[in-house]
Amino acid sequence: MNAFVEFFATHGIVLLTYAVMIGLLVGSFLNVVIYRLPKMMERDWRMQCHEFLDMPPPATAGSGFDVFNLAKPDSHCPHCKHRISALENIPVFSYLWQRGKCKHCQAPISLRYPIMECVTAALSCLVVAYYGLSWLTLALLVFTWILIVLTMIDVDHQLLPDDLTLPLLWLGLLVNIKGAVVPLPDAVLGAIGGYLVLWVVYWAFKLLTGKEGMGYGDFKLLAALGAWLGWQSLPLVILLSSLVGAIVGISLIMFKGHKRDVPIPFGPYLAFAGFLALLWGHMLTGKLYSLLS
Ligand SMILES: [Zn+2]
Repeated sequence: MNAFVEFFATHGIVLLTYAVMIGLLVGSFLNVVIYRLPKMMERDWRMQCHEFLDMPPPATAGSGFDVFNLAKPDSHCPHCKHRISALENIPVFSYLWQRGKCKHCQAPISLRYPIMECVTAALSCLVVAYYGLSWLTLALLVFTWILIVLTMIDVDHQLLPDDLTLPLLWLGLLVNIKGAVVPLPDAVLGAIGGYLVLWVVYWAFKLLTGKEGMGYGDFKLLAALGAWLGWQSLPLVILLSSLVGAIVGISLIMFKGHKRDVPIPFGPYLAFAGFLALLWGHMLTGKLYSLLS
């Protein structure tokens, strides 16, 4: 095992190549989670509603399939239902090889799939380049991957599932149990502080305007970021996410005709700021405090 670690330590390029390959494969799986998890949740809610109202359970619970989870049914073309073989499922390459079309019915495949695979590979590569080969790196990769999924589900559905935010929070506390990223007390205070800050903002905004500015998922996500990065990084995460959120929000309203009343999801900005804080948190926080003093 030690020889393995030594080999990787002296072969940075090899390590990064592995990071890219694993990133592409994981990205392909994240595409599945981003697409299916909200549908699984909707199916579950539908089942619960039927149960609560003493109605017979719906046959396919709205998904069109008897079994619908992350593994089943097999990947298929949504257009012609042709089952996608392993060869057609190689990240990025299959898309390029088939020129972005289903092999069977020629229906276009969304460019989003290979883009998500490349983004996952690039971010995984960054994490590995920064943290090298260790158990912490593996944990930080999981942190990064969950943030990617949360970002995309929030963009698509304005939803940050508890199934992701809560495990992310527990995992952050677990990773810091011996202070891998920050000491445990900082992580616990980060989790509590992260939740409370947005909870206060939410209620202040609601009492003043009568509107809901964000969802409870946002509090849980910031709590999770606090658990991973400690309470010290909360000011940076809040500042960065609000700044980028404001710039993107105003641009959407000005250039894309986005209606002012239609809420813009906040989760992607929190996730983005959390990832930046992970890699460059110390440097950015230092700059922030020197600006303030
Ligand atoms: Zn097809």
